Amino acid sequence: MSLIQDVIAKTKEKDPAQPEFHQAVEEVLNTLQPTVERHPELVKAKIYERIVEPDRVVMFRVPWMDDDGEVHVNRGFRVQFNNAIGPYKGGLRFHPSVNLGIIKFLGFEQIFKNSLTTLPMGGGKGGSDFDPKGKTDNEVMNFCYAFMRELYRHIGPDTDVPAGDIGVGGREIGYLYGYYKKILNDHTGVLTGKGLEYGGSLIRPEATGYGAVYFAGEMLAVRDLDLKKKTAIVSGSGNVAQFTIEKLLDLGAKPISLSDSSGTIIDDAGIDRDKLQYVMELKNIRRGRIKEYAEDYDVPYYPDLSVWDVVKKEGVKGELAFPSATQNEIDAEHAQALVDNGCICVSEGANMPSTQEAVDIFQENKLLYGPGKAANAGGVSTSGLEMSQNSTRLSWSREEVDQKLHGIMKSIHKTALDAAEAYGDSGNYVMGANVAGFLKVAKAMLAYGVV
Ligand code: NDP
Repeated sequence: MSLIQDVIAKTKEKDPAQPEFHQAVEEVLNTLQPTVERHPELVKAKIYERIVEPDRVVMFRVPWMDDDGEVHVNRGFRVQFNNAIGPYKGGLRFHPSVNLGIIKFLGFEQIFKNSLTTLPMGGGKGGSDFDPKGKTDNEVMNFCYAFMRELYRHIGPDTDVPAGDIGVGGREIGYLYGYYKKILNDHTGVLTGKGLEYGGSLIRPEATGYGAVYFAGEMLAVRDLDLKKKTAIVSGSGNVAQFTIEKLLDLGAKPISLSDSSGTIIDDAGIDRDKLQYVMELKNIRRGRIKEYAEDYDVPYYPDLSVWDVVKKEGVKGELAFPSATQNEIDAEHAQALVDNGCICVSEGANMPSTQEAVDIFQENKLLYGPGKAANAGGVSTSGLEMSQNSTRLSWSREEVDQKLHGIMKSIHKTALDAAEAYGDSGNYVMGANVAGFLKVAKAMLAYGVV
């Protein structure tokens, strides 16, 4: 058995109940064979075996009280995966599906993504199986305080800097940071995605969605194409989806879909700026369901179907796809439907939204396929910029941050493309992103010796 297959097999054997983690490890390691051949020093130092083991896993009880005085117990996680090139950095996810395997997959992906950004950030991820949906602000605050009551001792501005992810937006970051500051008496950049009034960066809320669109623009430019007048199929309706749509509109594309975990809307006339404003109000302030969009704008609503189910069922056409909801939302049949319906470019705002079989179909059909760890790295990059601003006690203008974000996305695109070329699979962004992200971290690990 080859080294890579052996590491994959042992990873599965050790933690059999973590399918998402296995999927992420397989996806990365299966592209690293050329590095095994060219870098015997990494093989000798057992870097491949070491990189799939987190530095540490913190798992804790989160007891909290709802508005009726009932006590609930959730589980909290922080996986500090690898800090070879900088403090652990990665979001917190609050969603009922969260378990250790999901947090490990996200933390593992984060190592390579953060390395690709060129900023000094290690990989980590955390969260809880708490579901903010249907909870009052007071309940969310109680939960966030209870979560931070344990997390605070494991994080720090030079140790581990969490941010948001699914279910953790500006409201949650405010409560988490407020409690951290209260108990430590320390106003420091320990979280990113903060409000502008207390150390946040302009463009951080927009960054993941904007970045995914910038990345698509870079991929299209390789074939002398651009985003103008292209129809874009977007999933989700949260932070990433909203700002993906905003940047698509800025650059002349036509977004036509949105979804949440209850269903999907397709708006053939296009989601314009007024409608986007409506969605932001609906999702971020009223915390309503996307079904209301269908009622208010008289467009079709597909209950219990994902965007990709609808693409398959109704033959929805679009040149661009921006999966921006969650992992494994696109399977092989969805991918085939996208190909059949004229899709030429997939830029992943979400983390690992496509199964391996779906990725194979995109690649066999020569789509421009930007994997999440490259295409959605704009979020963590701008978190890195927020950390720099906090450290220097400066704040940069909107234009300055957006320009830096755009520059970083261009550089990630080029790095991935160059690495794919150098390691023998020209145009393969998955391989290029994995190899480039891996080598930087691996070389740092090698420099430290056996620790
Ligand atoms: P939000 O919580 O703001 O939005 C998530 C959206 O996806 C919601 O519309 C939600 O619907 C939907 N969704 C979540 N889980 C499921 C599910 N299991 N099935 C169907 N729909 C689902 O999260 P973000 O927009 O921040 O994150 C979206 C994706 O982007 C995630 O994969 C995240 O890891 C990734 N990402 C986010 C970054 C960021 O900066 N925020 C950075 C990099 C990646 P509902 O409201 O019904 O749950």
